Amino acid sequence: MFSKYPSFAPRIRVLVALAVALAGSVGIADAASQRISRVVIDAGHGGHDSGARRGYVLEKHLALDVARRLERYLERRRMRVIQTRSRDEFIALSQRSDIANRQRSAVFVSVHFNWATNSESSGTETFYYNNYSFAYGIQSRVARKARTPNRGTKRARFYVLRHTSIPAALVECGFISNYSDRRRCLDPRYRQSIAEAIGEGVLSYSGG
Ligand code: ZN
Repeated sequence: MFSKYPSFAPRIRVLVALAVALAGSVGIADAASQRISRVVIDAGHGGHDSGARRGYVLEKHLALDVARRLERYLERRRMRVIQTRSRDEFIALSQRSDIANRQRSAVFVSVHFNWATNSESSGTETFYYNNYSFAYGIQSRVARKARTPNRGTKRARFYVLRHTSIPAALVECGFISNYSDRRRCLDPRYRQSIAEAIGEGVLSYSGG
């Protein structure tokens, strides 16, 4: 196609180079100098949606507990916190991303617990759609504190990640389907340490 209009080719090359340079500088500014003063915490599931479940262990309860601990951790460090839910109620995914998208100078963290048909699966993982560095900063700290397998930082097309315009991460704090993970998840000290690890990741991204 370009060979038909040879004189356009150099100009297009310059434009491409400019676009790449701009994208690079935006990426750096995004991580280093963005002032983050608000955190939208999204406790997964709720109400009739229990999420993962094993006997009396319900993902929605564990997620809300970690979300509250994370809220306390961040508020003590002068962050403004907005919870998508503060009790056991059903909130549609679109409502969750709408709440996030109303915020400026904010990040979004969704808290979940995992489930796999293979009961051997264990450990923590964090998902992102657009912003790898935000999710990586959280996952590296969560994995260090959890002392379970680090399943890594992965890209996923989850609704709340795709529809949230601010930096967004979804943390899976352990497998309810795995015996030893489940025991840890039921321990409030584990949930506190995970909440603090997520909080540290948020603060490091915000330059705090
Ligand atoms: Zn979940």
